[in-house]
Amino acid sequence: MSLTRRGFTQALAAGSVLGAARRPNIVMIYADDLGYGDLGCYGHPTIRTPNLDRMAREGMRFTQWYSAAPVCTPSRAALLTGRYPVRSGLTRVLFPDSPGGIPTSEVTIAQTLKSAGYRTAMVGKWHLGCLPEYLPLRHGFDTYFGLPYSNDMRPLAGPGSGGNPKHPPLPLIRGDKAIETNPDQSQLTIRYTEEALKTINGPKDRPFFLYLAHTFPHVPLYASERFRGKSARGLYGDVVEELDWSTGEVLKALKQSGQDSNTLVVFSSDNGPWLPRLENGGSAGLLREGKGTTWDGGMREPCLARWPGTIPAASVSAAQGNMMDWFPTFARAAGAPLPAGVTLDGEDMTGVLTGKDQGKERVFYYWHQDDLRAVRKGPWKLHTTTNETATQPVRTTKLDKPALYNLEVDPSEKYDVSGKHPDVVRELAGLLESHLAGIRRGEPQK
Ligand code: MG
Repeated sequence: MSLTRRGFTQALAAGSVLGAARRPNIVMIYADDLGYGDLGCYGHPTIRTPNLDRMAREGMRFTQWYSAAPVCTPSRAALLTGRYPVRSGLTRVLFPDSPGGIPTSEVTIAQTLKSAGYRTAMVGKWHLGCLPEYLPLRHGFDTYFGLPYSNDMRPLAGPGSGGNPKHPPLPLIRGDKAIETNPDQSQLTIRYTEEALKTINGPKDRPFFLYLAHTFPHVPLYASERFRGKSARGLYGDVVEELDWSTGEVLKALKQSGQDSNTLVVFSSDNGPWLPRLENGGSAGLLREGKGTTWDGGMREPCLARWPGTIPAASVSAAQGNMMDWFPTFARAAGAPLPAGVTLDGEDMTGVLTGKDQGKERVFYYWHQDDLRAVRKGPWKLHTTTNETATQPVRTTKLDKPALYNLEVDPSEKYDVSGKHPDVVRELAGLLESHLAGIRRGEPQK
């Protein structure tokens, strides 16, 4: 989708639905493999995150916010399209030799905001296809600087590197051209932050959308000299503390440039912690399991939203939300029309963000790759099987050993109460069936 005069005029006419004098800037900061329990404001005892903790104090901290997938590529596809990854076909992690990427038929939130007159910038890990036609510039972003996929997809071998001799050198891309290979990863968070500040300090004639997708704390872990060896949590803590610093730099730049009260900043993560990486992986806190599973530890994420004067300070929301909700929520804040003829799975969360409502009962489906493995409705979560760990994923969508959990009572998913609530099991099993049928027909899932 290109910038059209009609779309731009519509957006200007709509103005900000939230009553701000100007349409807000929007900053989406997305960490990679950061766990639910890895920030100070989510209870980590030794990782110091003063800037993110401050962001929580000055905004809203969500306790039940989900990624739409427990691994990188589909999670990012869902964030940018507002749709379950199965709709775009991006259900699996892409590798350097993967031929595919985000289809041109998908409309990204960047395209939607660009059509409404926003400057759009992407910094960091893309992971929606590394061939030129799949890179950010072809999908709604004016500028791009970052790695096209995960930082372990490189030829280096060695303990914990994840390297593969068949992989090409890891490219660092500006625009749609590789400007370096195998960059010094200890400098990536600093360089991403510098790029992000360029967008924040850019021309003020139009609002901007900045998508800052950090490479870390995905393994292999690297921190710059200032942070290396400083955290009581070890290298993983060093890396998270540097991401916290980066967020502080973003917030400082917004303030110094007079844009603080006119910018919505969101911080979250693409999926849960990579537990088989032992001390190099993070913590899901009280949640069960981690990355690569549909237990809540794999998909429930830390999520902070800050917009001074619009989002009430120091608010904690237990409303159920998910990454697909940001598409319609950002579009609403920008006064941008939603794309015509597109089935969106996300819902506008403006009411919750502004403190006007507490959120409603939601139904959320837990997909891993092409498997529909669980569903949540209100407090109840039904798994199709309990035979799932990060090291031994299952390959079935059959209801072979259903397990029911009440997540309000039992957020750690320890106590299967399916025997006590056969009616709830039946209802949620029916939702799984109708969701699958609806996906096949391209219907929205509300
Ligand atoms: Mg990830």
